[in-house]
Amino acid sequence: MSNPETQADLLRRKACAGLCRYYKPHKREDPGCGGVEVLKLRPDLAEILAALPSPDSDGLFDLAEDDPRLLAVCQACEFRIDGCDFRDPEVERSECSPCGGLRAVAWLYSQDPELKL
Ligand code: SF4
Repeated sequence: MSNPETQADLLRRKACAGLCRYYKPHKREDPGCGGVEVLKLRPDLAEILAALPSPDSDGLFDLAEDDPRLLAVCQACEFRIDGCDFRDPEVERSECSPCGGLRAVAWLYSQDPELKL
């Protein structure tokens, strides 16, 4: 019998591989981005995370880039200061994308605006 998928592996499959422009299949980042780290602590959300879509667009599911709930995730992210083009004001928006972890968080809020993370 195979082992059940861990929350970290679920996030890697759905948020990183499924939604992140920067995903590298052979590189595991630990800690991961702010979004992944927040969601790792929420196994209660595994069922809804398993339904995360993988649209071709790179957007935040109609949430604003400066939505305070998303800014809070980025504020706590290890990559924000040195390693995130999306939150780097020097980088043109057309040349970068929000990471998969932040997009996963945005999708969850788009499904349930009352969600607390
Ligand atoms: S968009 Fe950048 S700062 Fe925000 S969670 Fe992703 S990697 Fe971190």
